[in-house]
Amino acid sequence: MGNRAALARHLHGLTSQGQGFVLTQLKLLQLSAINRTFGNRVGDEALQLFGQLLTEILSHHASQQLARPTLARVGSDEFALTLTEQQAAQPAQLATQLCEQLAERLKLPINLGSYELYLRFSAGIVSYPLVADNVEELMQAASQTRHHAQRRHGSHWLQLDGATAARLREDKWLEAELGFAIAMRQLFVVFQPQYDLQAQRICGAELLLRWQHPEFGLVPPDRFIAIAEHSGQILDIDLWVLEQACLFLARLARTGCEEFRLAINASATELSNPHYPRQVELMLKRHRLPPERIGIEITETALVELDDVARNMVRTLKQIGVEIALDDFGTGYASLSHLTTLPLDTLKIDRSYTVQLESNPKLVDSILQLAEAFNLSVIAEGVETPQQLRLLQEKGCDMAQGYLLARPMREEQLLVLLEQENKVVPIGSTGQHSPGHRH
Ligand code: C2E
Ligand code: MG
Ligand code: MG
Repeated sequence: MGNRAALARHLHGLTSQGQGFVLTQLKLLQLSAINRTFGNRVGDEALQLFGQLLTEILSHHASQQLARPTLARVGSDEFALTLTEQQAAQPAQLATQLCEQLAERLKLPINLGSYELYLRFSAGIVSYPLVADNVEELMQAASQTRHHAQRRHGSHWLQLDGATAARLREDKWLEAELGFAIAMRQLFVVFQPQYDLQAQRICGAELLLRWQHPEFGLVPPDRFIAIAEHSGQILDIDLWVLEQACLFLARLARTGCEEFRLAINASATELSNPHYPRQVELMLKRHRLPPERIGIEITETALVELDDVARNMVRTLKQIGVEIALDDFGTGYASLSHLTTLPLDTLKIDRSYTVQLESNPKLVDSILQLAEAFNLSVIAEGVETPQQLRLLQEKGCDMAQGYLLARPMREEQLLVLLEQENKVVPIGSTGQHSPGHRH
């Protein structure tokens, strides 16, 4: 298998001959998590197996219709496949088929030593000369498209067609606009209350970011946060959110409320920024806030990509005194190892489990048991029905957050809600009505 330089030479050869071709970039996902959890030897074998599967699927096609498909290894966990118009009548279609077959094969677990692993990949498929007229741009587009295809679960691939190309251009535009968003005061935070199910009252809130763009309207965080993470802008943005949290808590303290806690979200980028813990510490000092008033939510997906340096960073954050919650718990890889190796305070049950509370209660039960064994508190997110709330209370879950209880709201609304707290009747006792809407 050739390397990146060999691939570039091959592609330059094709372009100088004026040949049309399709380039597919494939990445084996979560290799670093596999290395860390099962050891480098298992990681190496997983990679080798993935390469072998690719070659097998290709050679099957080669015997039928391909003359000489070209596979190269272009990074530690990345491969590139070139299919020319001479090799296949419809190379893009064939590339898609190959991805489908690979994904189908990877639905079965891979046996490595005594472990059974599920591997997954993401792939970007681009055509020359349709997408770009030079090799460098084409390779970049393949990598961007692959990144765009990647999802939290499973294997995914994407062919760069007109619609995707337009979306990538829009991403670029949003990225440029995001650079001005803080200064132009287009960003704001909303607060979603978190309820203590024992005490039956609000114990804190999660800060969620919003971007109101003058032309584009309200851009959803799931769209722009991925862009900001990719460009690195998330570092400034998340610090700005932390500052908003500190400012709010300081304002609240002046009204005599010293108990309230705020949770902010930290992206994977933060966790690989060596300055982050110090920045958090300085910000808290500047606003004279006890660190335990702030909780930092890190996602399992972010942890999965982490190396040891970043794990140490989570420990440093904990030493500063802030609380650490594991967001989206249960949706990532090898969750259990995090419980033993990281100083966590809280597990956040992902909404996908909360919705199954009635149909599949064992899932939440086992998370609650795990939390108890590791002495962690638990908050369930995405609580939308009174039944879910009742079940969580019965099962002894500590906290809950969700549209049933309160939607994310502006600071003024939260203040009104907190004021009403004293008059509040027990949550869950009013059936459909949320405490946020009671008078
Ligand atoms: P998350 O941290 O898991 O936040 C929970 C998301 O679920 C929020 O969406 C919230 O509005 C929504 N949600 C809460 N209760 C319910 C419910 O009962 N039903 C339903 N269907 N949804 C509910 P939002 O605000 O769109 O945020 C999406 C994601 O964006 C967040 O997921 C978080 O990962 C990210 N995010 C938001 N703000 C920030 C931020 O300041 N920094 C970073 N790095 N990420 C952020
Ligand atoms: Mg969160
Ligand atoms: Mg979550």
